[in-house]
Amino acid sequence: MLKRVLIANRGEIALRILRACRELDMETVAVYSTADAEALHVQLATRSVCIGPAKAAESYLNQDALLTAARLTGCDAVHPGYGFLSENADFADACKAAGLVFIGPSGDAIRMAGSKSAARDRMKAAGVPVTPGSEGAVNTVEDALRAAEAVGYPVLLKASAGGGGRGIRRCNSLSELPAAYAEAKAEATACFGDGEMYLEKLVLHPRHIEFQILADRFGHTLHLGDRDCSVQRRNQKLIEEAPAKCLTPALREAMGAAAVRAAQAVGYEGAGTVEFLLDADGQHFYFMEMNTRIQVEHGVTELVTGVDLVREQLRIASGLALDFTQEQVLMAGHAIECRINAEDPAKNFQPCPGEVAFLHFPGGAGVRVDSCLYQGCALSPYYDSMAAKLLVHAPTRLEAIRKMRRCLEEFTLEGFPTNAELSYQILYHPVFVRGGCTTAFLDERLPELLDFSRRVAACEEDV
Ligand code: ADP
Ligand code: ADP
Ligand code: MG
Repeated sequence: MLKRVLIANRGEIALRILRACRELDMETVAVYSTADAEALHVQLATRSVCIGPAKAAESYLNQDALLTAARLTGCDAVHPGYGFLSENADFADACKAAGLVFIGPSGDAIRMAGSKSAARDRMKAAGVPVTPGSEGAVNTVEDALRAAEAVGYPVLLKASAGGGGRGIRRCNSLSELPAAYAEAKAEATACFGDGEMYLEKLVLHPRHIEFQILADRFGHTLHLGDRDCSVQRRNQKLIEEAPAKCLTPALREAMGAAAVRAAQAVGYEGAGTVEFLLDADGQHFYFMEMNTRIQVEHGVTELVTGVDLVREQLRIASGLALDFTQEQVLMAGHAIECRINAEDPAKNFQPCPGEVAFLHFPGGAGVRVDSCLYQGCALSPYYDSMAAKLLVHAPTRLEAIRKMRRCLEEFTLEGFPTNAELSYQILYHPVFVRGGCTTAFLDERLPELLDFSRRVAACEEDV
């Protein structure tokens, strides 16, 4: 087994990894920027190393600083978490070259999945359905116009290197395309240092359904079921649940098998996620992307399967085989996660970080809170605005919804605005309660959801 793990991340995911390491009796080395000197992950790690100033480019994205920290503290492995360097193939290679185990797939697998346009082509070849779209990248506006003409409007322009919903633009017609192309390319260049674009037909009113994958180095690849992440604002997830209410057993089986094929097609090892869109009639599904890392919403899968995914990542990276089979993966009950962000939904979800003046987390049976906040700490403006993840687990979906409402009532965070009240409204909305949310739900219903004086009575008898 690995002995000492450098956690190349911050925030709640650094804490999550630290906890799994400790439960496996592994030592942990936390890294931090000067902005995070007081952070909880630093306080709880076996050791900690400052790797640079607040700006992520100079600290959490600084590969040399991370590798030096790992060497100086005698680590044998690096866990990248999500975001930052987690999907950086060169970093995975650099860890390996430095004699460190990178807790994730090989650099080549990350590279293959990381170019979303190339991944589409690879998936098509592996018999995984993809949305109609461009073959490979569209390198000029003319290329994009031709590809859009071929698949038919509306289309989405997407960044090959994209993530976190950035570098995506919708085009309803030919006349909108040149401006959208320039905008999306500029955003992708700024966010990812790579402006390559590709194009997909826009799937109307789809659901975002994804499958959790685990693969060891002995050729065992299996999935741990699905998550519905359709409640999104600006292509970013806000509420996730497992299992997806809209899947029939036959469709679940077909999508799970496709997800396993997708992982095998890139020679996958470790934990990963295959994301699909399910069309409005719930019949056709399309591969969207593969995320080669632990996912923010992995906890809902843990609650329904009882499998600790970070523990599995650590075991696989230690060279152990998965000790259960696909048939032994059993789903029990229903889990929901709400991401609580420091943001103002009424002001276009503008991030509003600040100091935590008062904090109370919900508790009780079937409740899990993943957060690195504590009373008096500051949520830094330099990084992601996610403040906490509230998770619940209950025997049925309706009971999980009721439990989450109760949690949101108990949850108290003073010091900056959050989306907690908005999530509470969603948990009462009849479309959500009946399991009818598509990715368009939140944007379309935002005005009525933000009218806090009016709580739409949910039709629970429909559930
Ligand atoms: P998930 O599917 O795990 O929910 P998200 O797309 O919400 O993933 O992204 C998780 C985190 O990682 C967010 O903080 C997001 O900003 C960040 N992130 C995702 N992809 C990238 C990327 N390619 N580059 C930088 N940050 C990313
Ligand atoms: P990211 O890497 O930023 O997570 P994805 O390719 O996973 O990008 O897409 C993010 C979100 O954008 C999806 O969850 C979905 O809501 C929307 N989306 C992406 N592709 C399409 C498409 N072809 N049609 C409709 N919606 C899409
Ligand atoms: Mg995605």
